[in-house]
Amino acid sequence: MSVRVRIAPSPTGFAHLGTASTALYNVLFARKKGGTFVLRIDDTDAERNRPEYEALIYESLHWLGLDWDEGPDKDGPYNPYRQSERLDLYREQAARLITEGKAYRCYCTPEELDAERKQAQQEKRPYKYSRRCLTTPPSDRSVFAVRFKVPGGEVHFTDMIRGEMKFDADLIGDFIIMKSDAVPTYQFASPVDDAVMKITHVIRGEEHLSNTPYQLMLVDALGYERPQAYAHMPLILAQDGSKMSKRKHTEMNLALYREQGYLPEALVNYLALLGWNPGTSQEIFTFDELVQAFSFERVQHAGARFDWEKLNWINGEYIRMLSDDQLKDRLRPFVPQLDEETLRRAVPPLRTRMHKLAQAVDYLDYLWTDPPTPTLDAETAHRVRSAIETLRDTTWEPEAIEAALEKAVAESGVGKGKFYTPLRDVITGKKVSLPIHYTLALLPKDVALLRLQRAVD
Ligand code: GLU
Repeated sequence: MSVRVRIAPSPTGFAHLGTASTALYNVLFARKKGGTFVLRIDDTDAERNRPEYEALIYESLHWLGLDWDEGPDKDGPYNPYRQSERLDLYREQAARLITEGKAYRCYCTPEELDAERKQAQQEKRPYKYSRRCLTTPPSDRSVFAVRFKVPGGEVHFTDMIRGEMKFDADLIGDFIIMKSDAVPTYQFASPVDDAVMKITHVIRGEEHLSNTPYQLMLVDALGYERPQAYAHMPLILAQDGSKMSKRKHTEMNLALYREQGYLPEALVNYLALLGWNPGTSQEIFTFDELVQAFSFERVQHAGARFDWEKLNWINGEYIRMLSDDQLKDRLRPFVPQLDEETLRRAVPPLRTRMHKLAQAVDYLDYLWTDPPTPTLDAETAHRVRSAIETLRDTTWEPEAIEAALEKAVAESGVGKGKFYTPLRDVITGKKVSLPIHYTLALLPKDVALLRLQRAVD
């Protein structure tokens, strides 16, 4: 049977790193096995879903080059691929379970359920629904949810990362599969779709490991074929090892990487190594190399700490691998103020000094903003004047400027640092810049000389 895998993100907020990471592992596995990668949208939570969040999922996956074979925008044999458009299916299947005595209507009110829970707490026993509506259903109520009658016993399954898994289902109480508004819970809709869409391997985050026994019991009760295997990928943790929270950790938001100028192929490379290792010292992989090298056996069990330093290093490596023209084109959206020729000339000195494209703005914004003129002491002003003198007759090219300045430095009696710092300050208003000869050469000669002159007048 050919491999079919899926991701099933919920469009309830910005597109996040976990979705990218799960998508990547699904794609790697699908490509390795010549299988099919499905994008399903888990949008049963009508209150929190927004079409613009769904659009963000598409956009970010496209940006990363993690394209799907079937999905809401692509059609396919198991159309529709949005759960909100599949409600009839879940309702039919829930009705079937009720008819077969595998599920039942529960009329309990939230207050009644709360009271049951509190009682269990007081008696210091783990809470399980009392099955009151199974044993003595009320005759005078009409609002109901549907509960699955948990068969109990042991649930076994194979996890491609963690090996053979075993759960004691006697600890699981009858749980709700359809809410009172006739909308399915995640616990129900997900395994129904996985089965109906013929998903062979469910690859998802570790936070879903404990859901798997619930979902397998449902698959069995519905008489569906089980997926061949599961893989529960390690959680992505913050750099300090704490759990990532959407509010606190901006690194959760995929848009950030794009805005900051991480190259999608570098982020993919980094994400592959976040939780998996090839067993060799290789760290830079083309996508095809990842497909070849990837295996679930080498995925770690423990949470994977996000490491900015490593991401920055990898991104820097990818930046340096681009040709001048490619890098120029990638930089273009970050510096719309620059004309083509200036940007072309800025590429060589930038290339070795960047770990993300947005840094180009810090290096180059002096080209379109006029920095404030600093006050110089007499001695410094004297050196700046000597620089002006030399530069006036110099061809406006980095090499020529460098040679001229070096001569001026030699004559000044101070070191390069001391000579260049005020020049940098006057020209850019910053402590850090590209090497001074590039910094000057990128500005039109008259503008550069004017800024220097202004500071000594
Ligand atoms: N909608 C779920 C999520 O976004 C899908 C989980 C799953 O893959 O089953 O976490």
